[in-house]
Amino acid sequence: MSDTQNPSGSAPRGFETTAIHAGNTADPVTGAVVPPIYQVSTYKQDGVGGLRGGYEYSRSANPTRTALEENLAALEGGRRGLAFASGLAAEDCLLRTLLSPGDHVVIPNDAYGGTFRLFAKVVSRWGVQWSVADTSDPASVRAALTDRTKAIWVETPSNPLLGITDIAAVAQVARDAGARLVVDNTFASPYLQQPLALGADVVVHSMTKYMGGHSDVVGGALVVDDQELADELAFHQNAMGAVAGPFDAWLVLRGIKTLPVRMDRHSENATKVADMLTRHARVTKVLYPGLPGHPGHEVAAKQMKSFGGMVSFQVEGGEEAAVEVCNRAKLFTLGESLGGVESLIEHPGRMTHASAAGSALEVPADLVRLSVGIESADDLLADLKQALDGK
Ligand SMILES: *Cc1c(COP(=O)(O)O)cnc(C)c1O
Repeated sequence: MSDTQNPSGSAPRGFETTAIHAGNTADPVTGAVVPPIYQVSTYKQDGVGGLRGGYEYSRSANPTRTALEENLAALEGGRRGLAFASGLAAEDCLLRTLLSPGDHVVIPNDAYGGTFRLFAKVVSRWGVQWSVADTSDPASVRAALTDRTKAIWVETPSNPLLGITDIAAVAQVARDAGARLVVDNTFASPYLQQPLALGADVVVHSMTKYMGGHSDVVGGALVVDDQELADELAFHQNAMGAVAGPFDAWLVLRGIKTLPVRMDRHSENATKVADMLTRHARVTKVLYPGLPGHPGHEVAAKQMKSFGGMVSFQVEGGEEAAVEVCNRAKLFTLGESLGGVESLIEHPGRMTHASAAGSALEVPADLVRLSVGIESADDLLADLKQALDGK
């Protein structure tokens, strides 16, 4: 295994081609066009230390995981991809690689509830300090820095408020402060947005979402371009052990092949849904970066290919009304998570973001979040209308 997964010098390819081919070389033994699921823990050595292809134990490396990791690096334009058992496992490995007791990190005022919980309930116990900033405003990030700030964490678009952060602008703040910029790219996927090219140091993914794309696997990823950081992360990935299993890696690798076509349709359907919601009498506010009135619209248009499949909105009548809309939806399945081909609806305040209650990351009680799937748009619009109209 080479430690440079995305060697420069290879001919540049289109994203769709890379999604299908990077890491997916035909099996050398049988010619199988899809990498096998190497469901194996250990590898025969040809004499002590005589490894075939560099594999000795599957926590350290497994060929199916390697295929996915090469694919991830290529898609994000980084030197190294690392696949984990979940998005939070990836985040945990990253934080314990970057931070030591006494260090400080700036976190966004809108983020995945589990990311906030990791900072507030886990990492803080190890003596890491954190402050909350409005990352959509680079001045707010600058104001939150201390002389111990080692990392700035950004999620864009954010979960569940669909806030947009100017990655290039915050990358400059991070460079000035000698801190690393981490971007959670879960909502956009590398097809819509490539943070490393905009100056980020680390890209984080919950591959459970759009990368897998079929609500059938939990996984996480880190992608970096800096070789030294790549080596440190790979060391910690093996030392801490929360790696993606072979079958999970294979499912994500399969999902990624259709990422571009899925994301195009997610964005198209979400645009139609957002448009309908803005005209619905019971909807008081629609949060979708594709809407010209969204405060982050121009930045999103600059750094994203299209605006993605996530839409949130606020309902007249407060929390109970929002909960009722969720309960009445039929085609939109009531459930947590996002990014699958099937549409989902949820109430962040009581579901995904319940752990942020009472904090700076608390979400509005009348908020409903949609993961707009790739079903027929007319069916999605009809379902949302009946859920809002209550008849
Ligand atoms: C789901 C999610 C995570 C956590 O990923 P898991 O795979 O559930 O551990 C992190 N960030 C964002 C934006 C998410 O949506």
